[in-house]
Amino acid sequence: PKATSQSFTKDLWPRYDWFQNDLTITIAIYSKQKDIASELVTVDYEDGILRVEIIIEDYSYLLRLELSHAVKEEIAVHVSGTVGKVEIVMKKKDNIFWKKLGQSLDNHNSFVKRTERELFYRKCRLVSKSYVTHNTKLFCLMLPHSTHIMVPVGQHVYLKHTIAGTEISKPYTPVSQDLQLDSKELILNESKYIYLMIKIYPNGAFTQEIDKLQIGDNLLMSSPQGNFRKSLLHTVEDLFLVAAGTGFTPMVNLLADICSFRKIKLMFFNRREDDILWKEQLEQLAFTNERFEVQFILSEPTDDWTGKRGNISIPLLTEFLKRSHEESRRLICICGPTTFTEQGIRFLKDIGYSEEKIYAFTE
Ligand code: FAD
Ligand code: NAD
Repeated sequence: PKATSQSFTKDLWPRYDWFQNDLTITIAIYSKQKDIASELVTVDYEDGILRVEIIIEDYSYLLRLELSHAVKEEIAVHVSGTVGKVEIVMKKKDNIFWKKLGQSLDNHNSFVKRTERELFYRKCRLVSKSYVTHNTKLFCLMLPHSTHIMVPVGQHVYLKHTIAGTEISKPYTPVSQDLQLDSKELILNESKYIYLMIKIYPNGAFTQEIDKLQIGDNLLMSSPQGNFRKSLLHTVEDLFLVAAGTGFTPMVNLLADICSFRKIKLMFFNRREDDILWKEQLEQLAFTNERFEVQFILSEPTDDWTGKRGNISIPLLTEFLKRSHEESRRLICICGPTTFTEQGIRFLKDIGYSEEKIYAFTE
């Protein structure tokens, strides 16, 4: 493969192979890494072109071929993490013997830094749209049948749409359909649906247009992006989530894994009570699950608000960050408007938290 990699010597580059029987074509990719998970593999097949991308640490391995013959839409992806093998199994449309897998296209069999790989978008269909609050909606997108994507926890996707003749793209963080723990499979298992919680701004360049989309309309969605790695959570006992507004979205998927922690606490900042996303669901989760606690803090409350008020501050953070037991291993995740996140990080450092105890969600 072509590669700009310095850290992967040539013998560590992935390689692939293919074979067939009467009914199927199988591509086997040997990643040469032990910790390959299904969510690191994306597969697309459109107009006869197969695209397979595997993320290996900070690198991207790509196969891009115009297949010799047509295959059916359902494509299976099998990942054997322990040996690092990925198998893509496609069903032949016609029962013929393939002499060749296909024609290589640009960047086929390349292994480059992830940041050097151009973002790939596929066409998704809007299948439902429902209110979460007065200005925020849950959009459900259906992936093409032949696409395999699992968005890893803490990562986001880009939506792209042509507005007044110009292509605009903005990042959004997929969430689960709701906070019911048994719907966890919607994120963790392969799903054909992606849910996005999007706040519509009165003068928002992108969100005003997204809001105009009708059920059945198409829009483009990218492969997952972002730096968050599940391994950050491995030894964490107390998980503290500090969110403001739609900065709640990356926290949703962390909540799905509630049982992996001794305690998860969410401090959720909003302007007004009716801006709080999934307020009742969060209260319900706290009521039914003693591992979870939530507190709402309003910056522009009405007089009848009896809860906490104000903006992010050292006293609020100090009180919030009490450990479940002495010595517990902690991680603090923070997300919201840029100024909010920056202030939060500064305050956390001021009260003695080191950088490795803090994860800030940003682009
Ligand atoms: P814009 O036209 O950009 O404006 C938005 C609002 O901000 C308007 O009211 C505008 O007046 C105001 N504004 C714009 N620029 C400024 C400025 N410089 N100073 C003060 N005010 C300004 N959003 C979600 O709703 N859900 C998500 O899950 C989500 N995930 C994200 C993930 C990442 C990694 C990032 C970086 C952002 C995420 N966002 C999310 C925000 C999203 O990407 C867009 O920024 C948002 O939807 C606004 O888009 P817009 O074009 O409609 O608004
Ligand atoms: P908002 O304007 O409704 O504000 C929510 C709360 O944030 C306020 O109540 C206040 O407590 C705090 N806040 C707002 N502006 C502040 C400021 N200038 N300084 C300090 N605190 C402030 O929030 P929103 O419109 O829902 O915006 C959410 C933000 O989160 C967006 O900027 C979005 O880009 C960002 N976001 C980022 C990611 C990510 O990076 N992964 C994911 C989702 C959302």
